Amino acid sequence: MIRQPLFLSLNGRRIAVVGNGAIAARRAATLVSGGADVIVCTPDPHDELYDEFTPIAGRFRRGDITADDVFAGCTLCYFAPDEDIAPEPALIARARDAGALVNVADYPQFSDFITPSVLDRSPLIVAISTGGEAPLLGRMLKARLETLIPASYGRLAAMAGESRAALVHKLAHHAARLRFWERVYEGPAMEMVLAGNDVGARAFLEHEIATTLPDGSSPDTVLRGEVYLVGAGPGDPDLLTFRAFRLMQKADVVLYDRLVEPAIMERVRRDAERIYVGKKRADHALPQEEIGELMVKLAQQGKRVLRLKGGDPFIFGRGGEEIDKLAEHKIPFQVVPGVTAASGCSAYAGIPLTHRDYAQSCVFVTGHGKAGPIELDWSTLLRPNQTVAVYMGLAHLDYLMSEFLARGADPALPAAVIENGTRNTQITVTGTISNLAAKATEAGLKGPTIIIIGHVVKLREKLNWYAPGT
Ligand code: SAH
Repeated sequence: MIRQPLFLSLNGRRIAVVGNGAIAARRAATLVSGGADVIVCTPDPHDELYDEFTPIAGRFRRGDITADDVFAGCTLCYFAPDEDIAPEPALIARARDAGALVNVADYPQFSDFITPSVLDRSPLIVAISTGGEAPLLGRMLKARLETLIPASYGRLAAMAGESRAALVHKLAHHAARLRFWERVYEGPAMEMVLAGNDVGARAFLEHEIATTLPDGSSPDTVLRGEVYLVGAGPGDPDLLTFRAFRLMQKADVVLYDRLVEPAIMERVRRDAERIYVGKKRADHALPQEEIGELMVKLAQQGKRVLRLKGGDPFIFGRGGEEIDKLAEHKIPFQVVPGVTAASGCSAYAGIPLTHRDYAQSCVFVTGHGKAGPIELDWSTLLRPNQTVAVYMGLAHLDYLMSEFLARGADPALPAAVIENGTRNTQITVTGTISNLAAKATEAGLKGPTIIIIGHVVKLREKLNWYAPGT
């Protein structure tokens, strides 16, 4: 290794920044917020500081570059010229002579140390360096890590830090503590933090510390499984959330149904067991209660169970019913929202669900009840300047449209039906409430489809200029 990484505490440390432009200001701001005693010197004593320094005004001192002792007591000195001009070697030498380690932005050959790209999940920090050879590559790698390391990892690290003393007291041996943390980081406490449930995670962690065996293992004979109820979106795998993707990689077993695209299933951990639980209209392979019971059973075997749902689990997804059983049996679970069909399909079809001029509200309704078409609240649906998105409505499209007409809706009210939205097989049929049913039949649509009714449908012609007719 050419350079040795270090994480330096800035608190109270005197650090000089030479430069007056944006780069120097960014550097000074980072140092100031880390608690350093920052001295900013302009390359020419008569230069002004750029406006970029305004947010940290009063939190740094100005130094005179011509004064002999300007670098006295400095641990570090950053040269951050705004133009691509290396600073005077004599100036760099002066900083070094005063005992400071020197960094010259963009000139690793003049630098005692270089600054890495930093992924900040404080107190967890990932620093990436390419040894000054390819800083952009470092930044690109950082961007990739941003997507892999959930933002809440920092909170988990902080929580672990708070419990350290109690654990050292309980488990004297290093190996036992390692074993303890290994199972905590792999288990439900960590997932709770990542899902934003810090209170639950803290309680869980306290329980784990209180009950741990002297070797760091758990006294529970049954391993602790958990359930992830994950919304997979309407089909395009790019619409998965980071969290959905991470849990898909972690699961031991996955319960999926017809609405989950094969392209999404391909992203589930290769060796995870796959259980099809059906769900076609009027062909429920497993009744809802049995799905719940199956999840409980698998979790009680210590498995990480992924229940993958199309769209969002809490929007016509019966997610609430499925987790009933989990709560009853005190199985840890989390619900991960997904892009719901109405928003995914409308975006891909070029139809904004709301628009200042055409729709100030949008309602999501289901066109299918437990037995046939449901009785809808028509006075709500017919409100002006509103978009209506109907899920599971294709089988009753004709009925729905005629009801709209019969209740006085404008026969020219635009409407669309989108089949296989967001997938590469997406078909959009547009028309009015008077002719949409006939057009859908003509197009031979089978579903899944979402129906969108409202003036916003008209906007599609304008917004879809790059792909007319799709
Ligand atoms: N929880 C899901 C909805 C489940 S109900 C969500 O939030 O999207 C199933 C209905 O969703 C389907 O009958 C259809 O109306 C709609 N749907 C789901 N995926 C769709 C897609 N890719 N294109 C069009 N409609 C879709």
